[in-house]
Amino acid sequence: MLSFISHHWNGAIDWLSANAVVPLVHGLHIADAAGDPREIAEAALIAALQLFLIACVMRPLENLIPAERWADRRHTTVDRNYTLLMLLGLFPLFSFLVLMPFAQLLGGGPSTEQASGLKAWFPWFEQHPYLLFAVYYMVYDCVYYWMHRAQHAIPWWWAMHSMHHSQRQMSCWSNDRSNYLDGMLQSFILAGVGLAMGVEPSEFALLGLLSELVQNFSHANVALRLGRLGKLGERLLVGPRFHRNHHMLRDPARPTRHQCNFGQVLPWWDQLFGTALYHDEAPAATGVGDPEVDADNERGLIAMQWHTLRRFWAAFSCRAGWRPGDVSFGPGLRPIHDADAGSAQ
Ligand SMILES: [Zn+2]
Ligand SMILES: [Zn+2]
Repeated sequence: MLSFISHHWNGAIDWLSANAVVPLVHGLHIADAAGDPREIAEAALIAALQLFLIACVMRPLENLIPAERWADRRHTTVDRNYTLLMLLGLFPLFSFLVLMPFAQLLGGGPSTEQASGLKAWFPWFEQHPYLLFAVYYMVYDCVYYWMHRAQHAIPWWWAMHSMHHSQRQMSCWSNDRSNYLDGMLQSFILAGVGLAMGVEPSEFALLGLLSELVQNFSHANVALRLGRLGKLGERLLVGPRFHRNHHMLRDPARPTRHQCNFGQVLPWWDQLFGTALYHDEAPAATGVGDPEVDADNERGLIAMQWHTLRRFWAAFSCRAGWRPGDVSFGPGLRPIHDADAGSAQ
C-alpha cells in the first residue's frame, strides 16, 4: 500500500530499529517489556519528522510572513512545551499503553490478517489501495468535523476544548495545547472509527501524521492564503487563514460569527454543512472573551490542565453543562448560557 512512500518509510524504520532501538532496549535491559522495536522506531521517526517540519519550516515562515506581529512570543512558550511533551513523551506512551491494547481488544491491531471493515464490505477496494486510503481519510476527517462541532456545542466538552482556544498568540505550536482528557476522548473516538473501517495500524499512524502536520500548519502565525495557490487551494485544504477564523475572538456585535471552520484537514464539511467562513477582512484577533478561560494564559502547563479539569467537572455535573449552546463559566465554574445571560459574550 502506498508503495513508494511505504518502501522508503519501512527502510528508515528498519535502519533506526536495528541501529538505535534494539541496542538501546538491550542496553537498558527492557527488551521484553518494550515490545516490537520497529513500532518504537516508527513512533520516534514520526515525532522527529513532525518536530523537524514545525521547527525548521513553519517556525521560520512565522518570522518571514506573520499574520499578526507580536512584540514578543511570551505566550507561545507554554504551547511549545505542550508540543514537545506530547511528541516526545505522552503520545508514544499513550499509543503503546492504551490505544494498542484497545485496538487488540476490539479485534483489530497488528495480529489481524483477515480483511475487515471497508475491505470486507467492498472487496473491490483490495485492488484500489490509494482510493481506499482516500476514503478512509474522508471518513476520518468527517467524523473529526462533527466531533469538533460537539466540542463547541456541548458545554462540558467546551469546558475542556476552550483551553485550546484560550491562546492569545496562535502559532505553529498551538495545535498540541489541549486538555489531556479531551485528547484521550478524541483518540478513542477516532481509533474506534479507524477500527470499524478496518484501517491497519501502520495506515492509522500515517492518517494521524498527515492530520497532525496539516493542523500544525493551520495554526501557524503565517499570512499565507491557500487561495493564492489558485482559487481552488483554500477550498481543498484547511490552511492558516481558514483556521485562524475558527479561533477568532467572539464578536458581541456578531455573536454567531465565530461558529465557523470546524474542519481539521478538509474544509469540505464546512462548505457542505454551512459553517465555512472565507472573507477578505484582516484576520481577527484570536482567543476567548470569557475571563475564566482567558485566565489560562496566566497558568503553567500543569495548572492549566488542572483548571480545565475543574471546569469540565463543574459543567459535567450540572444540567446546564449538557444543554447545547455557547456558555461562559461563572461562579463555581458553572456554565452560564449566553442565551440565559441575556447578552452574548
Ligand atoms: Zn475549536
Ligand atoms: Zn485550533
